[in-house]
Amino acid sequence: MKIAIASGKGGTGKTMVTASLSVSWGSRVVAVDLDVEEPNLHLFLKPDITGSRDALMEVPQADESKCNYCRECAEFCEYKAISVLGSVIMIFPEMCHGCGGCLALCPTGALTPTHRKLGDVSWGTSGQNRFLMGRLRVGEAMSPPLIHQVMTALKQPDISAGIADVLLDAPPGVSCPAISAVIDSDYVVLVTEPTPFGVFDLRLAHQAFTTLGKPMGVVVNRAGVGNDEVYGFCSQAGLPILAEIPYDRAIAEAYAAGEVIARISAPMTALFQRLAETIRQAAAPAKEARHA
Ligand code: SF4
Ligand code: SF4
Repeated sequence: MKIAIASGKGGTGKTMVTASLSVSWGSRVVAVDLDVEEPNLHLFLKPDITGSRDALMEVPQADESKCNYCRECAEFCEYKAISVLGSVIMIFPEMCHGCGGCLALCPTGALTPTHRKLGDVSWGTSGQNRFLMGRLRVGEAMSPPLIHQVMTALKQPDISAGIADVLLDAPPGVSCPAISAVIDSDYVVLVTEPTPFGVFDLRLAHQAFTTLGKPMGVVVNRAGVGNDEVYGFCSQAGLPILAEIPYDRAIAEAYAAGEVIARISAPMTALFQRLAETIRQAAAPAKEARHA
């Protein structure tokens, strides 16, 4: 099963929860960092990286000697990545979404594919688990195609062979990167905090992922700060509270030191083992329905 750990905003403790779940799952998992703009799961899991590759995206290049300046490519491109002004054709690779449409329709063969580097994909091991991550190139704005390539890499035998469950550390928010990360999951764990900002962004995440038909549950981090508005919202929305992680100095210190909090004390170990079991049970029907 694929479990996405998501949040409506950054800083809720989503990666901390992913790291702790991966060491508490009870069987081997692939822990995947899809927060490609700012990956940090590796800081907690400290994997041995065994492989990596560039993540490339196909973009067009023009051979002006073959171009008749018909403008079909420019009119087709929704993203304005091609301009044809009189007898000048300009391509803006950083705006290209790699759909390939212009390449397919150019009547003269003036457009041919080249590549733009999006970032890289790397993988390895972390204890008994496997680890996979994407990292967006500095200056690159388009993370969904890289997220797609990380998910494709999951199929590599040296990453997922013999492992049934995948934990996806999704990007924060509810825009395209978060949707790209969550869309292929069986269950979404929403990590929030009991503050007005936390509840506001939880509402957005719930709304966005409900339209994808994803079953969801909530982990309340820093339980004890703020107010109880988050509990009222969850009750009203029919969102189960899967676990509450207390607002505790020892947890904050362990997090700041890059420790996996499921390992810092017996109560935290037990909390994450219970959480893993709760998620497994909650996600099982969705997984069966999806693969039926
Ligand atoms: S579609 Fe092809 S021939 Fe027409 S303007 Fe674009 S590159 Fe030139
Ligand atoms: S590949 Fe698609 S997005 Fe990129 S320039 Fe061509 S039409 Fe535009």
